[in-house]
Amino acid sequence: MPTEPIEQIVDEVRAIVEDPSYPAARRWLDTHPDGKVLGHFQVYFPEELAHAAGVLPIKVAGFDTALQIRKADAHLAAFVCSIARSALELVMSGTFDLLDMFVFPPICDVARHSCAVWARNFEDIDCQILYLPHNAASPAAVPYLAGEYRRILREIEEVASTRVTDEALRASIQLFNENRRLIRELYRVKRETPWKLAATEAYLLTRAAGVMPREEHNEILRRALAALEEREGRPQDRIKVVFVGGFCEQPPLDLISVVQDACYIVDDDFMVGLRWILEDVPVDGDPIEALADAYLNRSDYSPVQHDPRKPKEEMLLRKIRESGAEAAIIAAAKMCEPGLEEQVGYSQALFAEGIPHLVMEFEEKSTTFEQTRMEVETFAESLLFEFA
Ligand code: SF4
Repeated sequence: MPTEPIEQIVDEVRAIVEDPSYPAARRWLDTHPDGKVLGHFQVYFPEELAHAAGVLPIKVAGFDTALQIRKADAHLAAFVCSIARSALELVMSGTFDLLDMFVFPPICDVARHSCAVWARNFEDIDCQILYLPHNAASPAAVPYLAGEYRRILREIEEVASTRVTDEALRASIQLFNENRRLIRELYRVKRETPWKLAATEAYLLTRAAGVMPREEHNEILRRALAALEEREGRPQDRIKVVFVGGFCEQPPLDLISVVQDACYIVDDDFMVGLRWILEDVPVDGDPIEALADAYLNRSDYSPVQHDPRKPKEEMLLRKIRESGAEAAIIAAAKMCEPGLEEQVGYSQALFAEGIPHLVMEFEEKSTTFEQTRMEVETFAESLLFEFA
């Protein structure tokens, strides 16, 4: 049987990802009338805890231009990052009226304080902060985090009026292990043959995980990977770059498109929460402890996790080496303190190693990219000339 074209699968997920009413979550609720929905920011959350309780975990993020910020501006200052304002706007405006629970990560002042703003304004939503360990390298970190996961699980059980067994947790871990494996495979295709999978396509296919049941997403990724085997493509004369800065607020799709017109993005930190755990989480032993151990010890890096075993500059250099990139784009969301701070250290490390890089800022709802296009094209062309 011939496989369907990859373009068709990408169009299908794009329609779901770009619709701020979360149509896939609504469809799930139609078939699960008593179902509950747990929202969280896309930087890592152990979604297995929600899934095992029969709760749908959803990553709440902004939507390029589709969402106008009106009501949220009365509660959050204009100098706060866009994702915090757009997530609040989604709920205040009634666009996204599905939430029963929302969990904030304590990744920055904005996320921590947003919890109180939400709790005051949405009495029907159980708002929680998942207190991640400050010192990820401490021997006490795994038992501490396992205790914190158990506390959040009790809240989820309360919301869902259920009790979660270890067997249910193991089944959820297996499902999410499969999802992470499929995403790793997608990224392998992008890294090794970037002419076969555009960065925007990989981004949409990955981001869809955050807005639909993971069972459906696994199926979409299987279809996409089968379609990619059939896709032909020839390498073009473009430099390979690593793009970092998309760990929390996401760059607009049009910005990724502008970069990919001039460069192959062979690795990135878009939607890092979906790829935070780098290996399968074991399903023997205590599942909560296994999840806590995986978060701390089998995981990626980001500007919002402080782990002395993972110096971020060295991790970036390793990402560049392992992906075969020749240069880097060091981006940060406007008003994102952790992202902007990290740009300085990244730049110094790249200068020291003689790795060309372009520094930029973005905002999820930016609409004009002509200036960025000019900068990226000039950057890419100068390198092509230098490497020729
Ligand atoms: S974009 Fe930056 S400042 Fe905003 S919530 Fe995320 S980490 Fe915090």
